[in-house]
This record gives sequence, structure tokens and C-alpha cells, in this order.
Amino acid sequence: MIHPVNRPDCIDALWLAVYIQEELLELSLALDPSDIRNLNSIFGSDTVSWLWKYKQKLIDPLRGFYSHTNSAEKNDILTAFRHDINYYKQYNDGTFTFCLQPKANLPSLLAAQVGCWLENFYDVITQKGFPAIVSGYKCDINAQVINSETLSKNNGLYVCPVCDGTWMEKTSTGILGSIDHFLPRSIYPALSVHPYNLLPICITCNEKIKKDKDPLTYLHPRNLSETFHSYIQPARDVVQVQIGSSWAIVDNGAHTQNQLLIFPDIFDLPGRWQQDSDEFDRAVRRRIRDSVDAKKDEGQDVDHNAFDRILLRLDQRLYEEWGGMGNSYPATWYFRWLCQNKKAELLLDYVG
Ligand SMILES: [Zn+2]
Repeated sequence: MIHPVNRPDCIDALWLAVYIQEELLELSLALDPSDIRNLNSIFGSDTVSWLWKYKQKLIDPLRGFYSHTNSAEKNDILTAFRHDINYYKQYNDGTFTFCLQPKANLPSLLAAQVGCWLENFYDVITQKGFPAIVSGYKCDINAQVINSETLSKNNGLYVCPVCDGTWMEKTSTGILGSIDHFLPRSIYPALSVHPYNLLPICITCNEKIKKDKDPLTYLHPRNLSETFHSYIQPARDVVQVQIGSSWAIVDNGAHTQNQLLIFPDIFDLPGRWQQDSDEFDRAVRRRIRDSVDAKKDEGQDVDHNAFDRILLRLDQRLYEEWGGMGNSYPATWYFRWLCQNKKAELLLDYVG
């Protein structure tokens, strides 16, 4: 979660889907969902028609919830859902814990069934669409729309917010990308379509590296405030890449070790960047060469002082390219390391 990302309006329109989940949960855990007139009076006929179109995934499980007889357990699940969907307001509360975790703290059959039902909403919405007539949004919302509107809402960001590599690709069939549940929906089902939990990142980061790893428990337990997230607390300006025999992401100040461990633990970022170090080396040396040649073409001598100014200007240019060009973020840190640690070699190569 290096780069900051603005949530597009279509993701925020999913608040209505969260509201529908909450109302249906209340209905099925506390009231009787079999009365279709109730559904119509609560949601309106368009929403009910949409729900019934995916009856097997969205409606049928409700009857099972209602038929459970343990009302205390039902109440706990509803309270847990309502608690969890407000998690984004608690980012700085180091004691915040999630309640609706059927695999951990609510290990009941009913909680597991409710979890699966909540997850179904993500599949239906991203694959089949959340109709405009239900959401009130200007168009149907699906995975393609979420990806393309995230791109247009973040004009100037062309790289994966996590790894700084290729983000989404436009193909003949649409935009190829991957939507990450930062907190996996299989573990935190209340966040299956939560606007703060859905972030388009690259396919490699999401489906090959992170998969279902839980940022709050993987290898090291950590709380929400000890994570980086592109919507809420991006890392870009508060961390730096340390180059060495083993690359690392280190902080610029007061961040905890737990927060920094997100990158190697969950996304393997320093390791992946280190593997590309030869490429960064070639790229930055080529940029230095081009800058030196450009000065010489202007008829200017490149002595030690002029070379220092070239390096300073190049540092500024690389920084300005952050988010705009693939790998400019790690390449900048590699360039800075090169200038600090291989200055004599650079002078010999470029100044003589
Ligand atoms: Zn990525």
C-alpha cells in the first residue's frame, strides 16, 4: 500500500449494498423474511426483484437464518456485523477487534452460513452487477466499472498502488485488474462489499502474492493502526527503501516495526524489488548518461559540480515520476543509494 488512492464514487455507492445486507440480516435474524410484502415495503420492488434474481445466493439462505432457534446467538451475529462495518472509523484505536469472524471468534454453524451469504454479495455484484435502479448510481456497478472508475478517479496514478508495477491493462475484452479485499472476505465477511475494504491492485500482488493472507494476523499479530492502506494511511511519504545485501522498507520516523512488516510479510515487496535491482541499475545509469550527454550537447562542460547538479535534478525528476511510471518508486531509492555509495565510480564513468 505504497501509493494513496481515491475511492471512486461507484465504490462509495456500495454503501447501499452494505445497508441491504444489514436490513436483510435484521429481518432474517429477528423478523420473518418469508413475507415478501415486508421486503417490498422496506426495499422497494426494484431491489427485491434484483435480490430474487439471485434467489439461491441472496434470498434462500435467509430462511435458514430465521429457522435457527438460538435468539441470543442471532443477536450476537447482528451486533457483530453492525460493529464490524464501522471499522474504518477506528483505524487509530489500537484496541479495536473484529467480532464477526466465523472461523475465529464466532465459530458456529449459523455464523459460517451468514458469512457465506455475505460473501455471495461480492460475487453477484462484481460478476453480475449492482443495477443502477437499485443503487441510484449513474450505471450498473461491476468489477469492470470499479476498475475503470478507480483509474479515472486517480488521474496520474498508472502503477499498482502496492508494488509500483503494472496496475491494470486495457484489453479487447475490458480492463484486466484485480480487486483486493485488504481484509479477506473469507475471514471478515462483514467487509465483503465494504467501500473501504475494496481496492483494485495488480493481479500479481493480489492473486499470486497476497491471496487470502490476513494483514492483521499473518506471521505477526497487528492491529488496524499498524497497517498501511491506500485509502486511509498510505506508506509512500513515510517510508523509504533501504538498499543492501537484503533490501528492506524502513520508516522515516515514528512507525512501528509491525506496520513496516506489512510489506515483506504480506506482499514480499523488498524481495520482489531486489530481484529487479539489475534492471533498476541499468535504467538509472542510462538516465544519468542521457542527462550528461544532454548537457554536453548544449556545449557545457560536465565537471564535478555540474555532475552534482545533474544528479540533484535527476533525483527531482524521478520523484516527480512517482506513480506515473512503473517502478519509479524503488528506482528512486536505488538511485539515491547509488549516489551515496558509488559516487566515485559514477564520477569516473561519467566525468572522467
Ligand atoms: Zn502490485
